[in-house]
Amino acid sequence: MSKTYLITGGAGFIGSNFVNYIYNKYPDSKIIVLDLLTYAGSVDNFPMHVNNLNERFQFWYGDVKNSALVESLVSQADYVVHFAAETHVTRSIFDNRDFFETDVIGTQTVSNAVLQHKNSIEKFIHISTSEVYGTASECELMDENHQLNPMSPYAAAKVGADRLVYSYVETYDIPATIIRPFNNYGPKQHLEKAIPRFITSAILNEDLTVHGQGEASRDWINVNDTCLGIDKILNSPLSKVQGEAFNLGTGITISIKDIALHVIRAMNIDKSRIKYIDDRPGQVDCHIADIKKIKDVLNWEPSIKFEEGLKETINWYKNNMKMWEKQIWMRQVPIILKDGKKVIH
Ligand code: NAD
Repeated sequence: MSKTYLITGGAGFIGSNFVNYIYNKYPDSKIIVLDLLTYAGSVDNFPMHVNNLNERFQFWYGDVKNSALVESLVSQADYVVHFAAETHVTRSIFDNRDFFETDVIGTQTVSNAVLQHKNSIEKFIHISTSEVYGTASECELMDENHQLNPMSPYAAAKVGADRLVYSYVETYDIPATIIRPFNNYGPKQHLEKAIPRFITSAILNEDLTVHGQGEASRDWINVNDTCLGIDKILNSPLSKVQGEAFNLGTGITISIKDIALHVIRAMNIDKSRIKYIDDRPGQVDCHIADIKKIKDVLNWEPSIKFEEGLKETINWYKNNMKMWEKQIWMRQVPIILKDGKKVIH
């Protein structure tokens, strides 16, 4: 049966990949995107065949904090998938007000609209993040019961949103599920993030800059696997997922330095192009997902090997320079370190 998906933040990296995924996988689906087109979002992220003249797709330029607009769009949806957020850790160290407004109040606005329409909404997926956990001591696997120790203003705002959605399930019984993706990579990611920055620096014949010694390690999940995970939750019985938080990751950790080396190898350039700069405050040392819960409950596991996903991502950046060259000037953010020193990260 035809379903209508309201996708907030659908013009951003993961959101636009999810729009594409749903559009292609469910030919009778309808998609409504709400996006404010901040520096991180672009209508160019929608494939050519997905546009406002198409009766399966509607794009609404607007703010996720606009309750009247959000309520009217939620009233038309079966599923709500809420990606809209300010998302760059370093930028949240530079200036965090928008992070708390969009990530927390935006989520409260969407949650209130879902509450108003809780009898017609089948599922509300809130996209949280693994950053809510902070760093893993001893670099052990982090499951969904790991303490929430946000290390940056971005992560703190996302904890607020994550627990707000949980509280609405407890208080009002809304049909919500929280997902905590680990570090996503893939086509269309903004150049401010590590993997696109490395790839595009290599394409532009620049050095690849790494924070600190590059020992910080992360669990890197391909964006297509994230889309498959969200779809799995949307298609599962509500009783299995309501009020639950699920990690989406791989259980494998790769350091930032090794990511730079992977890019160097895959693009056939010299190792001396890696340069080390000051470490960033709010840095999470180790992040690694325990994905047992989602495997056991929903039988989801990642399907794309890192080397394979990286190769496809590199090809995308090589072939789509027109789409990312306007972001070049936004790759770095000025921040003040704990000792008062000003640096560009
Ligand atoms: P992104 O920065 O690429 O995209 C965010 C989108 O939200 C943009 O299109 C932007 O225009 C839109 N937006 C921002 N403020 C808005 C507002 N007030 N109203 C409407 N739209 C607004 O982010 P992303 O990397 O695609 O992340 C999507 C979600 O996934 C976020 O909630 C993020 O916290 C979460 N997440 C991302 C990652 C990752 O590795 N990228 C990992 C875990 C969780």
